Amino acid sequence: MQMTDEQLSLIKQEFATLKERSPFYARKFEGIDLADIRTQADFEKLPFSEKADLREAYPLGIQAVPDEEVVRIHSSSGTTGTPVIIPYTRQDVDDWADMFARCYETAGITAQDRIQITPGYGLWTAGIGFQLGAERLGAMAIPMGPGNTEKQLKMMQDLGSTVITATSSYALLLAEEIDERGLRDSLKLRKGVIGSERWGDKMRARISDELGVEIFDIYGLTEIYGPGIGISCREHHGMHIWSDYIYAEIVDPETGETLPDGEVGELVLTTLRKQGAPLIRYRTHDLTRIVPGECPCGLKHPRIDTLTGRTDDMVKVKGCNMFPAQIEEVIKFVDGTSSEYQVMIEAINGRDVLTVLFETPLEGDEKTRCEEQLAAIFKAKIGCTPEAKGVPMGELPRSEKKTKRIFDSRY
Ligand code: ZN
Repeated sequence: MQMTDEQLSLIKQEFATLKERSPFYARKFEGIDLADIRTQADFEKLPFSEKADLREAYPLGIQAVPDEEVVRIHSSSGTTGTPVIIPYTRQDVDDWADMFARCYETAGITAQDRIQITPGYGLWTAGIGFQLGAERLGAMAIPMGPGNTEKQLKMMQDLGSTVITATSSYALLLAEEIDERGLRDSLKLRKGVIGSERWGDKMRARISDELGVEIFDIYGLTEIYGPGIGISCREHHGMHIWSDYIYAEIVDPETGETLPDGEVGELVLTTLRKQGAPLIRYRTHDLTRIVPGECPCGLKHPRIDTLTGRTDDMVKVKGCNMFPAQIEEVIKFVDGTSSEYQVMIEAINGRDVLTVLFETPLEGDEKTRCEEQLAAIFKAKIGCTPEAKGVPMGELPRSEKKTKRIFDSRY
């Protein structure tokens, strides 16, 4: 990704005082004179920042402003070990609101809209980010938070919500509920803004059909503001990342080498204006690519493609590497499958056993044929043969948070 002159000058400006402000970066860049960073090539030699570094700095070791300038903190979920705490200044919160409002605008959402917010409120950045953006835009925020489907549907009808914001799995749950109860005609929904986990086209089509909405993928992570640093546009071909706040690079996850536009690798982000906790070359572990060329929508901000997975999601079974996105592609390819599936990997008598469970309306011989077809296509596309098992529709679990689909019980 070509760094623009504006981005380079923002980085130089940031670097002029970074080490004085941030004890974290004073240590990280010890022995490096940041005044020597004059070009993109110089910048690309700087070491990466890792989530593990941020954990080590717990609780407030990455704070780069005096206490009186911090107006709030957010924290990434601590499901695996120590959480990460990110301090925000008033300016940071303001910038985030501006970026988020820009996301809504890019999705064609206006001050006339009523935005039902189902992501959670709390320490993490989800619900509160969606709300901040809605208020900055001037739309009506309906701060539901997650769960309580009964109440969600009631508010959706009574208030005439026009926009639903959700994780993909919760959006699917709502879509199925609406379909089952035949509520669609009583709703005014027209857009869905869905948090960008990596999810398949089949699931997207179901949500968009059953809710009757145009879906936009929003991108972000707690360490870098939160959701709202990028979104897909009406062209639905990649998510624009706001290049006046964020510099995005794609690197080879193994070597750390910067990759040319169009190639899939790990997304690495640098904040250009963040005060409370600036991050330089932060490894997101999200796999994607820069979509080359300009977007027909007219926005100049670069696009990243739909996420293909996480660098740490890669699983190795029977000697072949697989990513969840590839499995989804196989499911999509086979007629008679729904969007829901689970993959189980077990070690039985010292051998890896791979099972793919998928929901299907088919029964008997038709189901058997579908299972055989799935196994064959899996082998052709990914390189190993699974045990494919069709289960009745609705049998696999849905969750309000991200749905876990790969279960590896080998270790
Ligand atoms: Zn566009």
